[in-house]
Amino acid sequence: MTHVQVVIVGAGFGGIAAAIELRRHGLTDVAILEKAPDLGGTWLHNTYPGAACDVPSHFYSFSFAQRRDWERLCPTQPDILRYLHEVAREHGVDRLVETGTHVTACRWDDAARRWTVSTSKGDRTADAVIIATGQLHQPATPRLPGTFEGHAFHSAEWDHAYDLRGRRVAVIGTGASAVQFVPPVAEQAAHTTVFQRTGNWFLPRRNRPYPRPYRWLIERVPGVQELRRATWFWILELLTLTIRHPRTVGRIWRTYSWVFMRGQLRDHPELRERIWPDYTFGCKRILFSSTFLPTLARKDVEVVTEPIERLAPTGVVTADGRTHEVDCIIYGTGFRTTDFMFPMEVTGAGGRSLAEAWTGGAHAHLGIAVPGFPSLYVMYGPNTNTSGGSIIAYLEAQAGYIRQALELQRDRAAALSVRPEVEAASDREVQAGFEGTAWTSCDSWYRDANGRIVTSWPWYMRDYVERAGSFAPAEYELAA
Ligand code: NAP
Repeated sequence: MTHVQVVIVGAGFGGIAAAIELRRHGLTDVAILEKAPDLGGTWLHNTYPGAACDVPSHFYSFSFAQRRDWERLCPTQPDILRYLHEVAREHGVDRLVETGTHVTACRWDDAARRWTVSTSKGDRTADAVIIATGQLHQPATPRLPGTFEGHAFHSAEWDHAYDLRGRRVAVIGTGASAVQFVPPVAEQAAHTTVFQRTGNWFLPRRNRPYPRPYRWLIERVPGVQELRRATWFWILELLTLTIRHPRTVGRIWRTYSWVFMRGQLRDHPELRERIWPDYTFGCKRILFSSTFLPTLARKDVEVVTEPIERLAPTGVVTADGRTHEVDCIIYGTGFRTTDFMFPMEVTGAGGRSLAEAWTGGAHAHLGIAVPGFPSLYVMYGPNTNTSGGSIIAYLEAQAGYIRQALELQRDRAAALSVRPEVEAASDREVQAGFEGTAWTSCDSWYRDANGRIVTSWPWYMRDYVERAGSFAPAEYELAA
């Protein structure tokens, strides 16, 4: 069986960040196992029309691989994928990626003190495993009763071969993905029916290409790029401030959003009433679009807020008994965010599975380390999602933390396991951190089936970066 020092599962931003960090510090015996045919993670799969990030490029990029030639404020999916390829190549980690390799199980061997990683291409052993499969990689398609005989696909598995022109299209869901693809879909389709379950709060986002002089300024004038990055850091932290203080700062932003949304649907009071959110600003993800609401007001677009009851061969049946006849259904219904690395089987010390360890909900020290799972580290794990900042900042911090753990493991020639009491205390602290924030005031994909918020980090980006920046050996024990 082949042995490698570190196996990284997943070649998205997390896996690539980890590999670069390890390589820069001389940890070069690394394999990145990726089930997809290429690196890119969520940005490889999400190719729907209009796919882009709503975090500005200057901040949705690695601190060590800054670019001055972004064409617009928020990068499009092709921009991001190209960027990740370039960075992986520049740092020599693209060749570590073994594509088409589906990891099915990671099992800790108590006797040999190492991991056996089972893949579609055979088994291998590793001293440490970094799971970088993220929170947004398993499309969630609702199990609706009935059968639809037309065409259907999920936004993360866009069928580019299917021509939407002249078709009657149903879009189920109005989350961050749908608000990006509904405007271009409505441009093509003969008719679009948008099924909204819950309304959203919106902030403006036009994302037009930068005017030429502005691009010149960013590219040529020293310090402008750095200034933009620093400015965006604070603007993003302000969003978190809003979510943390819904009764004060939150009200100011809510008013801004209210005025913006009202202006967008000024002449459509009936539509406004139906789509308006009824929960605290910031509880669910705040959406950024200046084109989605005007699209809903188009004559060839219908918004349906009646609950969906079932599918019929010719369309979607709502609770009022109406059948919405369509040729195609696009599911913009998001991801199984709280499943983390499942359905991969992960078994730690004493044969205990991660599924057992997480029966009451996923939790990990800094979202990275789980007691009883020696030398297993998670990137973008439990409670590390950001509602305001850039996930890239979190991933860089996690990569640095894991690298320090691996250096200690190498120096001590032993596997490391986070102390249960350390992890339990940090989990209590994280859960308490949500008290009084907007996150607790509604249901959202941040919660698991028990209602526990398991995806989000409750504080600021800088808090996470600071905490993960200092690895404390005393918080770990040498695995027996
Ligand atoms: P999402 O935010 O989870 O939205 C899913 C949508 O589908 C929601 O409107 C949800 O309604 C609806 N839905 C789910 N199940 C349904 C059902 N059974 N019947 C009717 N409606 C149903 O998913 P997403 O839009 O794919 O975005 C997921 C995450 O990806 C985002 O939150 C964000 O973190 C990330 N993302 C980021 C960007 C970016 O620019 N950075 C862009 C796209 C996506 P409810 O609200 O009622 O649950």
